[in-house]
Amino acid sequence: MNPLRIALNRPLPPLTYLGPVGVPNGVRVRVKVRQGSALGLSLGADAHPPAVKLRPLDVVVDPFPLLPSPVRQLLSFAAGYYGCTEAHLLPLSLPQGLEPRWMEPLPDGRTLAELRDQGAWEALAQAGEAWHAGTLSLPTLFHRLERRGAGLTEVRRTEVPHPLKVTGSQAKLLLALENAGGALLEEDLLDIAEVGSSVLATLEKKGLLERFKRVDLLAQKRTATEVRQVTLSEEQKRAVDAVALGAFHPHLLYGVTGSGKTEVYLELVRRTLALGKRVLWLVPEIGLTPRLLSRLEGAFPGQVAVGHAGLNTSERQADVIRLLNDEPRIFVGVRNAVLAPLRRVGLIIVDEEHEGSYKSEEHPRIQARDLAIKRAQLENCPVVLGSATPSLESWHAAQEGRYKLLTLTQRPGTAVLPSVEIVDLREVYREQRKKVVFSPKLLEALGETLTRGEQSMLLLNRRGFENFWMCRACGKLLECAHCAISLTYHKGAWKLRCHLCGFEAAPPEACPHCGAEHLRGVGEGTEQVEEQLQTLFSTARILRLDRDTTSRRGSLEAGLLAAEEGHVDILVGTQMLAKGHTFPKLTLVGILNADMGLKVADFRASERTFQLLTQVAGRAGRKELPGRVLLQTYSPDHPAIECALKQDFLAFAASELPFREGLQYPPFAHLALYRSEHKDVAEAKDALEGLKAQLKQVPGLKLLGPLEAPVPRAKDLWRFQLLVKSPHRGPIGEAMARTSGTPTSGLSVDRDPQSFG
Ligand code: ADP
Ligand code: ZN
Repeated sequence: MNPLRIALNRPLPPLTYLGPVGVPNGVRVRVKVRQGSALGLSLGADAHPPAVKLRPLDVVVDPFPLLPSPVRQLLSFAAGYYGCTEAHLLPLSLPQGLEPRWMEPLPDGRTLAELRDQGAWEALAQAGEAWHAGTLSLPTLFHRLERRGAGLTEVRRTEVPHPLKVTGSQAKLLLALENAGGALLEEDLLDIAEVGSSVLATLEKKGLLERFKRVDLLAQKRTATEVRQVTLSEEQKRAVDAVALGAFHPHLLYGVTGSGKTEVYLELVRRTLALGKRVLWLVPEIGLTPRLLSRLEGAFPGQVAVGHAGLNTSERQADVIRLLNDEPRIFVGVRNAVLAPLRRVGLIIVDEEHEGSYKSEEHPRIQARDLAIKRAQLENCPVVLGSATPSLESWHAAQEGRYKLLTLTQRPGTAVLPSVEIVDLREVYREQRKKVVFSPKLLEALGETLTRGEQSMLLLNRRGFENFWMCRACGKLLECAHCAISLTYHKGAWKLRCHLCGFEAAPPEACPHCGAEHLRGVGEGTEQVEEQLQTLFSTARILRLDRDTTSRRGSLEAGLLAAEEGHVDILVGTQMLAKGHTFPKLTLVGILNADMGLKVADFRASERTFQLLTQVAGRAGRKELPGRVLLQTYSPDHPAIECALKQDFLAFAASELPFREGLQYPPFAHLALYRSEHKDVAEAKDALEGLKAQLKQVPGLKLLGPLEAPVPRAKDLWRFQLLVKSPHRGPIGEAMARTSGTPTSGLSVDRDPQSFG
């Protein structure tokens, strides 16, 4: 036995355990932490073990590192960069519960377990390298492979709270499920928990568990593949040829909406596969890409795998097993896919690179677009970031020549950019003497579009029925009991809901502050817009798409498909509508309140508004029919609105960048945001004061705060922030290094933050 350093997926620094001599870096082990058991990652022998009695580890899980070498290097880089341990990132690469089979035989007949028992870790490591290189096949290393696919029953934990008393075997089962992240195949669950199926049945009756028949998502998508050949335009050809395969270089593909960026990616994929390499293709959201998936499946049948991030554990396991078994050659996935164990990557695509969903808003707070660049460097391959509205970070990098700029200025064929008109809501107010949701011009356009049998899309970036409830007698707002934000009224559910913590309450008759019965809803949301439309256009088929209507799995896909096939006349929704879709009959886009995002206290408010408006406008007229966009606003002179009106990204970037430079914000400065949350106000603030004292010793940092967070209380905790700024990455890295390693509860750091709430 030998001291080994083990990184744990806990808020703890690496700990030292006793393990077999020779256990290499990068294999997973199971250890006891306090009372429980945890999966950890071996960091190799500990040359300076602490002078205490060391506990032995429980079991070595992997015979050799399962992650390809560039991914291991990427994890190590990301851990340092984002201030976490590799073990925090590991579940994003390898889902928990994915365990190799030690009984797997090697060509000489010895099993992996036999080598382990002889302490032959060196031989195991060699086998692992051969397996990664594709010269050694271990076909049943992951026994779940045979059980993949539809028709299996999966058990999931429900929302029903844990009861105070359970029997011993029930506890075993619930614990096994919890350790697996809340879902497991029934067979495996009973296996791991070592209990009989009657226990499961009892818990199901109590509502603690649910059983599901699994369906194979990719198999479903395969039924609707699309095979089509287009001839690339001159611009598209030039973009493709500018990407040199076989060496690292970042590229920014800036192409106006509908200019055919996808065709450029597809041609690059073809060329990469011809070289025997693989493709990692990142998208902001899988649910929004049914078209892309069917196109990919049509062009490269049987070679595409889809990463089901956010779905349940066994599905994620099935994905990763396919990657580890070297089946797919193209892997399409969302954020975490940047860490996927795909081997021999020869091209990385980050579509809609400006999208906020590439940044994780929970620990570990990675930014997949940035990690994609790092990964491409480690894989020594090109990376292409694409967008019609690039992030100013990427644009600036292209301007400085750090990224190669590829440009598509036109829509292919006869399609042209839609014409955008402003509707000045101030004038409408003057004429109508009241606030309206739909201006007369928009109503008229909606009517005409309906008559022509074409489609309309209305964007309002706020869900619910009314934004908040106010008491007219005392002027107070109805707030969440746990957070310092107002509750949103959802009429269908007849509930006031907190969009932050999910708290809900039945709408009261009277004001809880003063008792007056003068409560009034303010600020319409998508639910109300849908209701008003239904009254105005009683025969129209209206579909609302927002987080409330698409929470059920598959409902977003179903809705989009219905719209694509022409079963919807008017689509109403939030920013979900903005993302990468082609509805052939969509000719009218109405933006109900273009200013909404501008009021947020965030230096990216303009950029986000410009992106959203331009992207939504870009949905119109993507095929033969010309598109029209009506943009309702109270501030027609705002640069973000003016540039969106002209769909002119270059003008927007030119007006916004000097402002960022003047105020020293990204891309001209680098940020890290320290957050503190505590039940006690003073403690929340003091934690950051302590940190600030420490950071004052780092030269080149500007420290702003600690200040109350924009939402000062959430989920019963007080929130404070300390913003750290520097014109260079170095000092920020230094700050991260000084403050990591001593994680304190309630204190967290967000490097390159996207959200300041
Ligand atoms: P983007 O991703 O740039 O917004 P898409 O890749 O979705 O645009 O392309 C918009 C539409 O134009 C799609 O329907 C696509 O099939 C079509 N298209 C793209 N390139 C060509 C081309 N060279 N010839 C004909 N049609 C094309
Ligand atoms: Zn709340």
